[in-house]
Amino acid sequence: MPASDGVVRMYTCGPTVYSYAHIGNLRAYTFADTLRRALLWKGWQVEHVINITDVGHAVAEAELGEDKLEVAAARERRTVEEIAELYTEAFFADLAALNILPAQHYPRATQYVDEMIAFAERLVERGFTYEIESGLYFDTSKDPGYGRLGLIDVSGQLEGARVEEVPGRRAKTDFALWRAEAPGQLRAMRWNSPWGWGAPGWHLECSVMSMLLLGEHFDMHTGGVDHRQLHHVNEIAQSEAYLGDGQPWVKFWLHNEFLQLGAAKISKSAGHLLTVSDLAKQGFHPLAYRLFLLGGHYRAQLEFTTGGLDSAQTTLRRLIRRTSALGRLPVVTTASEARAIAGDDTAALGVIDELDEAISADLNTPRVLALLQESLRDPALSEQGQRAVVAASSAVLGLPFGELEPVAADGPELDEAAVEKLVADREAARSARDWARADALRAELTELGVQVTDTADGPTWTRLG
Ligand code: AMP
Ligand code: ZN
Repeated sequence: MPASDGVVRMYTCGPTVYSYAHIGNLRAYTFADTLRRALLWKGWQVEHVINITDVGHAVAEAELGEDKLEVAAARERRTVEEIAELYTEAFFADLAALNILPAQHYPRATQYVDEMIAFAERLVERGFTYEIESGLYFDTSKDPGYGRLGLIDVSGQLEGARVEEVPGRRAKTDFALWRAEAPGQLRAMRWNSPWGWGAPGWHLECSVMSMLLLGEHFDMHTGGVDHRQLHHVNEIAQSEAYLGDGQPWVKFWLHNEFLQLGAAKISKSAGHLLTVSDLAKQGFHPLAYRLFLLGGHYRAQLEFTTGGLDSAQTTLRRLIRRTSALGRLPVVTTASEARAIAGDDTAALGVIDELDEAISADLNTPRVLALLQESLRDPALSEQGQRAVVAASSAVLGLPFGELEPVAADGPELDEAAVEKLVADREAARSARDWARADALRAELTELGVQVTDTADGPTWTRLG
């Protein structure tokens, strides 16, 4: 599938660094990381770019007026450079906390403005643009395939332009390549260009930086599902106009669905949405959040709840406890390395095949998690076989069980709701005379440090020790 050198080239739309990334944003990068790990598992190499949008993202939908970074700088009484630096560093810390593999490149938009201008000049030469007071615009009517990715029906969009948010813009779908400074305005971020002083449009940076770092055509481009309607549609339009070779610009587009923030949306004193540091302050391990995300499929919406995160943390603790009982755990990246560790344990090899099938079927991470949990209970697997399955799961899920401190697992408190549920499940299994399941559930409770006693009134439980 990728170029003949076996390297998959992949671009992920990165953060606009005007505030902390919220936990929804981090779903997008956890998804890209899962995709990358799945490719590595299959034996490809991956060259990954995540850009840093430190200019270009206007506050207003219509792309007029101030940049998000300029507004943040004014609000926080810092320079735009300080804002970019602060939130870029915070973003890197979030990536590390979630065990997201570092990209090979993190290009910053402000470092590529000359290249963006050159790119736009070629679009001008090719007749894809027009200039109005607010800047240089891409003329989407010149692109017959415009909007295909987002399944956008452009027929109604021309009429929409009568509601002129942007004076002179010919169609609502037309977007800014260059955002000219309004007369008398002196912006905090400004560059000179053939279209006057101003700043580049947001969509331009991704086309320019991806092509410079990965080549004109590359394999994969990812982002949140909101990008499928606008940002990626515009990236494709300008890139294919620029290249003019009649080929699709990028081979595969993959989008993660949104994390629904629900009640967590309510901003706190700092006025921001929930972050991974907020979760940590509430006692949640960042990797419990990663596990929570992986418990859903990336193309399905996922509702964030504290209860859901809580049970993910319980699962994480249990997994760390069980895997640490296996002693030193090997670290693998690829399927063949995992199979080599399983040796001649056919049961473990069977699980690794199933795991391979699950991750290959559009990244079925919930299935991988279930396989891991099942095989840690499965007496058919040898200890070495279990180590191989744990190593394989760590590779694709990005949960480094072998490196996690047991302290992270041994939180002082016991999740009583989870215990109650296990006790009830065991009772149901007993009523159904499913003794094997009842015993397995009792074993699970023992591992949590809980003792169950069956009385005439039903089961009761106490903590051991
Ligand atoms: P931004 O910094 O706003 O450009 O967003 C960074 C990434 O997060 C983009 O890929 C967005 O599509 C994605 N994103 C934003 N909100 C959410 C959400 N609630 N759930 C999942 N992804 C999101
Ligand atoms: Zn982008």
